[in-house]
Amino acid sequence: TIRAGVVAVQGDVSEHAEAIRRAAASHDESTEVVEIRQSSVVPDCDLLLLPGGESTAISRHLQREGIAPEIVDHVDAGKPVLATCAGLIVASADPNDDRVTSLDLIDVTVERNAFGRQADSFEAPLDVTGLDEPFPAVFIRAPLIDSVGDAEVLAEWDGRAVAVRDGPVVGTSFHPELTDDYRIHDLAFFESEVANAVSGLE
Ligand code: GLN
Repeated sequence: TIRAGVVAVQGDVSEHAEAIRRAAASHDESTEVVEIRQSSVVPDCDLLLLPGGESTAISRHLQREGIAPEIVDHVDAGKPVLATCAGLIVASADPNDDRVTSLDLIDVTVERNAFGRQADSFEAPLDVTGLDEPFPAVFIRAPLIDSVGDAEVLAEWDGRAVAVRDGPVVGTSFHPELTDDYRIHDLAFFESEVANAVSGLE
């Protein structure tokens, strides 16, 4: 059984849990999903999900509860993480906001609430490296990735990176949990060399 941790300060925790379960099931793997609100849970997790929400509040909670260094250790151990929207902001090398303490997991800089400013929220079909068909991406007051360092761009929209991979960490500026399409969770957790090393999948 794969133990998946979902940071549960805010955000679509149950939707992410469901997407993880379905992605695992597609590989005949069973998953136990645990919610992370305090320290000492992350070290027992095989994979982690940092959901969207409000990045300042999420960051404050992770720092105050001592969860932040555990997430960094998880990544240093080569275990997979999917960070979405506000999660991407917290995971970025530079969140460009004093109220957000960077976990420095993905070598990108971001600007909060900047993507698609003309329309706060929108849905777009995205071509994503590793997926055969476009992914229905839902953007909600999404962060703009304004520079990409040593990270791989997995998808672009309107000429801007909107999905990136840095080693075991995948970040998206959109919300992959808001449609019933679990392929981004699958890509981050079960369809990569690092992920397979953790889950024991071939
Ligand atoms: N606007 C939020 C922030 O900057 C992120 C939005 C989201 O997670 N949907 O923290």
